Amino acid sequence: MKLVQISDHIWSLKLWMLIPLHVWIVKEETGVTLVDAGIPMMAKGILKAINQLQAGPLQQISLTHGHSDHVGAIHRIRQVSPVPVYVHRHEIPCLEGDQPYRPGQKAAATMQKGLAQPLPEDSQGRLLPARSLTPYWTPGHSPGHVVYYHEVDKVLLSGDLFSSKNGKLRKPLFTPNMEETLRSSAIVGRLKPVRLEICHGGSIMNAANQLEAYLAEESKRLAHV
Ligand SMILES: [Zn+2]
Ligand SMILES: [Zn+2]
Repeated sequence: MKLVQISDHIWSLKLWMLIPLHVWIVKEETGVTLVDAGIPMMAKGILKAINQLQAGPLQQISLTHGHSDHVGAIHRIRQVSPVPVYVHRHEIPCLEGDQPYRPGQKAAATMQKGLAQPLPEDSQGRLLPARSLTPYWTPGHSPGHVVYYHEVDKVLLSGDLFSSKNGKLRKPLFTPNMEETLRSSAIVGRLKPVRLEICHGGSIMNAANQLEAYLAEESKRLAHV
């Protein structure tokens, strides 16, 4: 696995398995936050990377969503560091196997019941910042998909909101509700991150500049399906 520092406070860890698979380690005032947890075989590498950074212990795991390729290493990481795991509340019924991820599909748990806690919200249902990262609800790829914005570094950790190819925005794979995903991508125009990080693709600089063209192309494609 490859560990790369992508901004003042963030490192990305990449595994290549037919497609790239990234998780992110964020240096906080005390300790680190892990965003997403890849597949089971990444556990050792993630723990090693956290040790190498010497930025203090792991404090929490924040998930963009609960698909199996984003939660796989949690069990083994928590055997060493039993930290809390946060995810959007709309994701919990799916990842605990009470509801299918796709309409008509069989429900299947990707995490053990009671382990994932809902991301804290204010009285209006807005997600609250968790240490240095602000989560934003971006449904479509999954019901409780969120992205995490690091305001200081201007980096958006976008999970499976997009994929990318040769520095260009592409739609995410295996997405049951593409219309909703396209609506959710407006967050990039709102936040204008300097760097957009994508789980299954390379990063994109100033992605807001591409957003209009991406939305036009994908909306046209959707209309023709
Ligand atoms: Zn996914
Ligand atoms: Zn994924």
